[in-house]
Amino acid sequence: MFSTLSEVPPDEPFAVNGAYKRDSNPQKVNLGIGVYRTSDGNPWPLRVVEEAEKELFEASDVNRHEYLAIQGDADFLSLAADLVFGFGDYEGSSRQVAENMRQRVVSIQTVSGTGANRLGAELLARNIRPGCVWIPNPTWANHYTIWDLAAVPKKEYPYYDSTSKAFDFNGTFRTLSTYAKANDVVILHACAHNPTGADPSQEQWKMLAQLCKEKGIIPFFDLAYQGFASGDAKKDAWAIRHIFHDLNQVEFCVAQSFSKNFGLYGQRVGALHMALSANAPTNVSSNLLANLCHLVRGEYSMAPRGGAEIVKTVLGSKDLRKKWLEDLTTMSERILQMRHALFDELVKLGTPGDWNHITNQIGMFTYIGLTESQVSAITERHHIYMLSSGRISISGLNETNVQYVAKAIDDVVRT
Ligand code: PMP
Repeated sequence: MFSTLSEVPPDEPFAVNGAYKRDSNPQKVNLGIGVYRTSDGNPWPLRVVEEAEKELFEASDVNRHEYLAIQGDADFLSLAADLVFGFGDYEGSSRQVAENMRQRVVSIQTVSGTGANRLGAELLARNIRPGCVWIPNPTWANHYTIWDLAAVPKKEYPYYDSTSKAFDFNGTFRTLSTYAKANDVVILHACAHNPTGADPSQEQWKMLAQLCKEKGIIPFFDLAYQGFASGDAKKDAWAIRHIFHDLNQVEFCVAQSFSKNFGLYGQRVGALHMALSANAPTNVSSNLLANLCHLVRGEYSMAPRGGAEIVKTVLGSKDLRKKWLEDLTTMSERILQMRHALFDELVKLGTPGDWNHITNQIGMFTYIGLTESQVSAITERHHIYMLSSGRISISGLNETNVQYVAKAIDDVVRT
């Protein structure tokens, strides 16, 4: 029966990770998978997460393994939405203004960021029927799979300028303004673009947001690195808050992940937020939520509760929230230090090429600038693992291996 199945290529980051694990060379380095590692190369359960886990364990609530509502945990969702949209910032001046903003967002708990992307794509595909989805080239490869599964035609916009090693604003703007049509979807990485680490400036975000408004394009923000990118959750949500507050008639989606910023990769914590126009009729939000719940019920009934309990405990406590910000700073600063360390080593070696992009780009990843054959060579000769595009996860670097990696890059660039 199954002999007729078509062949499916393996997912690259997980395949590269598998190859790294099988390599017995003691000098091997894993720059493939997008996970945080300490300076000893180990995973890091955040201190604040451990504290919340202890609190939850000691509370020993008899309800702790009960079903959630299909929508998920209401308190978690309210805190998650607040982190994205910053309602709390308005509470001081006017409770009513903050409340009106909250009413414009429909949220549902999801199986992490991937699940939020998938649910949003499915809802749009079934109900809004976009002409196509505009995907940045390059992007997180799973965007292609997700929108394939939703059967929405895919088109690409040129995201990255490999000469300047930066965001290609002109190419993006030209493509979308010339070819995108009303009701098309555009995928936007809200911060720390994966795989390039190159983001639009605030001025560029404003122009893109205005373009979406004028043309009726539906923005779909993928928010996988809030707070992890810069250490500042507000700054990393700037583009979303701008469009929500300043262009308040644009309706859009946000796929929020807590994998990286809480180090809860395997717990699958996330949310999908749908932002409605300030002019939307009042019954829209309840019907939208009912549609989302219908899809979730048929797929998996509800998202898992364990990791969401942790995030809720942290975000709901002033003290733990402060500690979370400290943990975010620990992670983002270590990554920044490693960017500088790699850059310094390459400059010291006089490696041919311009390496400034390593320190200009932000977040977990950098498009290092090696060709596919140089990537094969660095893996074969030096046991250093990365994606074939030359995307490296900076957090795989540490004081012990950064010199080795720089020498290996130098070797494959020169030969
Ligand atoms: N979007 C992007 C751009 C990502 O990089 C990731 C993580 N690799 C995700 C979404 C989703 O990750 P998760 O499902 O673990 O939340």
